[in-house]
Amino acid sequence: MPDKKGRIVGVNGNMLTAEFDTGVTQNEVAYVLTGGERLKCEVIRVRGTRADMQIFESANGIRVGDAVEFTDELLSVELGPGLLTSVFDGLQNPLNVLAEESGFFLKRGVYLNALDREKVWHFEPLAGVGSNCVAGDRIGYVNEGIFKHYIMVPLAWRGNWRLTAVTAAGDYRVDDVMAEAENEDGERRQITMVQQWPVKIPIRDYAEKLLPEEPLVTQTRSIDTFFPVARGGTFCTPGPFGAGKTVLQHSISQNAEADVVVVAACGERAGEVVEILREYPHLADPRTGRSLMDRSIIICNTSSMPVAAREASVYTAVTLAEYYRQMGLNTLLLADSTSRWAQALREMSGRLEEIPGEEAFPAYLESLIAAFYERAGLVRLRTGETASVTIGGAVSPAGGNFEEPVTQATLKVVGCFLGLSRSRSDARRYPAIDPLDSWSKYRGLADASDMDTAREILHRGSEVSQMMNVVGEEGTSLDDFVVYLKSEFLDYAYLQQNTFDAVDGACGRERQLILFRQVLEVLRSEFSFADKGAARSWFLQLRQLFLDWNYLETESAEFAEQQQAILNKIAECRCHE
Ligand code: ADP
Ligand code: MG
Repeated sequence: MPDKKGRIVGVNGNMLTAEFDTGVTQNEVAYVLTGGERLKCEVIRVRGTRADMQIFESANGIRVGDAVEFTDELLSVELGPGLLTSVFDGLQNPLNVLAEESGFFLKRGVYLNALDREKVWHFEPLAGVGSNCVAGDRIGYVNEGIFKHYIMVPLAWRGNWRLTAVTAAGDYRVDDVMAEAENEDGERRQITMVQQWPVKIPIRDYAEKLLPEEPLVTQTRSIDTFFPVARGGTFCTPGPFGAGKTVLQHSISQNAEADVVVVAACGERAGEVVEILREYPHLADPRTGRSLMDRSIIICNTSSMPVAAREASVYTAVTLAEYYRQMGLNTLLLADSTSRWAQALREMSGRLEEIPGEEAFPAYLESLIAAFYERAGLVRLRTGETASVTIGGAVSPAGGNFEEPVTQATLKVVGCFLGLSRSRSDARRYPAIDPLDSWSKYRGLADASDMDTAREILHRGSEVSQMMNVVGEEGTSLDDFVVYLKSEFLDYAYLQQNTFDAVDGACGRERQLILFRQVLEVLRSEFSFADKGAARSWFLQLRQLFLDWNYLETESAEFAEQQQAILNKIAECRCHE
C-alpha cells in the first residue's frame, strides 16, 4: 500500500472531508482509522488538498483529526469461480456467510472475502508454457455449475505476456497459482483464479460490440410478442408499488433464455429485500430442475444500509454480469429497483451540496443512468463467440407517476419500456404491462402486419370501452361492441398469463406463435351475431377454450384436439363471404 496519508477535517453524515499531502484521485478507496477500527470509504470529489469521501459504514464516532490512509486503488470487485449462488451486499461481502457468522448485518469495519478461500475447484489447463498472451486470454477452466468458468489472464493487465509456467490439471483453491507470466521488461507475475476489477469501469475486453437484434425470449407473451426485449439490449419496468414488478422480474429470471442471472435488489424497506432473499432461492430452474440460484448472483441492499453501499451495488452487479459475459455466456442483470439507487445518488449529491436538478436529484442523474444501461450489450469476444449482458431495471416512481426524473431519464436510454399500470394490477390483469402505453424498439417474434392488427384492436377496443362508460352498452353499436369484445378476448387469451402456473407462466417461442396465429384468426374475422348478448356469450365460450388450452402441456394428448375445438368454434360464427 502506498504511503498516502491524510486526516479528517469535516464530518457531515456519511460524507467525510479529509486533507491530504500527496495526490489523491477521484474514486480511490481510502480507510479512516478511528477507535481501533479501519473503515472503508470512496473518494468522490477532490478539491485542492481536500478530498470528499463517502463512508461505506455508519460514521458514528468519527472525529476531526482521525487519520486516513489512501490506497491508490479504485473500488473493485473480486472475480473468480464461486460467484454463482452467492448473495452479496453492495461491497460484495457474502451475506450467506455473514448470516451464519454474525446474523445478517456486518460488524462495522469487517470486510469479508467475496470468494470462498477453502473451496476446491478442478482446474484444466488450456494454454501451454511459452504461449503469448494478453489480458483476458484463457489459460484454463474450472466447472462452475453447468458452465465452464475460464481462468483468464487478469483483465487489468497491460501489454504482452508470455506464460512461463502453467499448473497441471488438478484440484486447487482460488488463491493457488495457476500460471506464471513474464513481459518484455522481464517483469514476472502470477495468475490465480481470482482477479480484481474496478466496478465503475466497464469490462471492454471484446472484439466488437454488435447491434442487439435477436429477441431474448422471456416466455411472457406480452413481452415477446408485443414489447420484445433483445439479447444484449435494455428494458425497464416502471410501475407503482404492488403492480407486480418483482413478480415479473422473477418470472423473467426463471424463464428468459439467459445463462447467468444477476439480481441487484435495492429495496425501500428491509422487508422488500428479505422477501427477495426468501423467495428467489425457491425459484426452480426449468433448465436443470434444480434451484435457479445455482446460476444466479444476488446483490442486495436495503435503505438501512449506508448510502454509499447502495450506490455501489448496481455497479458491482453489472461488473459481475460483464465478467460472466467473458465466459461466452448470456447474462441478464435485473435491478429492482433503480429508483432506490437514484435516491442514494440524491442523498450523496445533497451532502456534497451540489446544485440540485429536478426533484433534488443530481443534475448528472441522466448521464449516470445512461452510463449504467450502456453497459448492456451483445458482443463478439476475441474467441469468436457472441455473448451478452441484457439489463432490465424496475423503476418505482412515487404514486406510479411516470413523469418523474428517474423514469424519464430511463426512458431516454432503454430499448424497451414495459409500463406496469395500477388499473391493470387492480383488475388483476397480470402481468400488468400496459398494452397501450408500453413500447419496444426491438424486433419480436411476430410479423409487423400481424402486430398492427392486434394493436389496432387494442386501441379501438379501448376507445369503445371509454365511450361505453359514458353512453352505456345500449348506446353502442353492435359492430363497436364486437371490437370491444375482440380486444377483451386478446387481453384474456393472450396478454394475461398466470405467472405462477408452470405451463401458462412460461410460454415458449413456438407456442406463442401457434397461439398468436389463432388469436389473429379471431381478430381478423367478421362475425355475424344476432345481438350483443349472443356476441358476449359466444366470446366468453371462446375465451374459455383458449384459457383451457393455455394450461395444457404441449405434450398432452388433448393438445391437438383442444386446438381443433378452438378452430371449430371460430368457424361457427364467422360470416360466410
Ligand atoms: P412490486 O414489486 O411492483 O411492488 P410485486 O411484484 O411484489 O409488486 O407484486 C405485489 C403482489 O401482487 C404480489 O405479491 C402478488 O400477490 C400480486 N401479483 C403481482 N404480479 C402477479 C402475477 N403476475 N400474478 C398474480 N399475482 C401477482
Ligand atoms: Mg418489488
